[in-house]
Amino acid sequence: MKCPYCSHEELKVTDSRDSLETNAVRRRRECIGCQRRFTTFETIELSVEVKKRDGRYEDFEQQKLIRGLEAACRHTTISREQQIAIASAITSDVMQRQLREISTTEIGDMVMKSLQGLDPIAYIRFACVYRRFKDVKELMDAIHCIRPKDEKKEK
Ligand SMILES: [Zn+2]
Repeated sequence: MKCPYCSHEELKVTDSRDSLETNAVRRRRECIGCQRRFTTFETIELSVEVKKRDGRYEDFEQQKLIRGLEAACRHTTISREQQIAIASAITSDVMQRQLREISTTEIGDMVMKSLQGLDPIAYIRFACVYRRFKDVKELMDAIHCIRPKDEKKEK
């Protein structure tokens, strides 16, 4: 690993937090070269194959899930910690089911279920990418799923 600021290769770990709940390790690192600090997350890679829409396979990577969540959750109320917790919960779920393969659609549905109660914007953004709605009606149906909660808020 290199320093993201100066590309120096010597880094020291200043703090390490292991979370069993989220099966992710968070480390505070400091660059020996420029003394700047940053945080890294270590996540799990399962030997589960993910079947994509086009029929190709790729390895399951928690990191990919996190990247998808990051895109959906930008400028929403969902924190980075929550995104990692969601990705970890899904990884644990896949691990416990001892699957050999899982489809991207199934993973997408799991993410959507997690986002549904948290933030409607993140939910819709993620849904747009994963479901690739065929038409406006499908999109509206997805929006209807989250509407009851919003109406409660307005009261
Ligand atoms: Zn540096």
